[in-house]
Amino acid sequence: MLKDWIKFLGTAGGRVVVFRQLRHSGGMWLHLNDVNILIDPGPGSLIRIFENNLDPKDIDVFVLSHRHLDHVADINSVLESATESTKNKKDLLIAPKDAVEGDDPVILKYLKKGIKKFIHTQENMEVEYKGVKIKSHIKHKHKGADTYGLSFETENKKVVYVPCGKFFEGMLSGYPENADLMIFNTTFVKPKPAIDHLSAEDVIKLINALKPKKAVITHFSVDILKSNPNEVAKYISENTNTPVIPAADGMKITI
Ligand SMILES: [Zn+2]
Ligand SMILES: [Zn+2]
Repeated sequence: MLKDWIKFLGTAGGRVVVFRQLRHSGGMWLHLNDVNILIDPGPGSLIRIFENNLDPKDIDVFVLSHRHLDHVADINSVLESATESTKNKKDLLIAPKDAVEGDDPVILKYLKKGIKKFIHTQENMEVEYKGVKIKSHIKHKHKGADTYGLSFETENKKVVYVPCGKFFEGMLSGYPENADLMIFNTTFVKPKPAIDHLSAEDVIKLINALKPKKAVITHFSVDILKSNPNEVAKYISENTNTPVIPAADGMKITI
């Protein structure tokens, strides 16, 4: 059987954590069914890819959860490297429409030529790529950027990614259940109603409703770093009876 894994190229985060680089912000590299998927290449992603002995040329699919800079800042650099300046075209890029088209797209026009197919995320989108089903789910409440939940499934593995957004009840039924691994962008310890990000309390509700086998928290703010991500993960785990891993920069998890 093929080995599946995910590597956390970065685990930032809130604005200060990203833009003072208190944690790296390179996104995640998912290796599923021998397909390489780069998710949310934030500032420094290209450097983190090489630092982790990975090669952009090996990326098959690019996924942007939303257009905010902490998730896309390095997409152009990585595309330039992965496609050798559009000479070697890559198969697929998945992103919300407002990240690729419209007034202020995040991908440079000339680099778009390096991608064979663009698919826009929306509720209930599904695309299959070499045995991996990539789906987008419920629309998040996240100011200034269309944002959707994402999942990556093979015949026997299911990885679910809950990107940034404010918690609302619809999320409890808007995601697939029983994931092998569920990744939560967990920015605060306690809910902050004025800011569109998940807290540890929200993640507890989501895990109890959706029952993943294992969870990872990432995308930390200073608030979480001060509280110690290990302690926050332990607290969520105790309230859900589910293993919860606090992501660390460069951490690799076998799925
Ligand atoms: Zn965002
Ligand atoms: Zn974010």
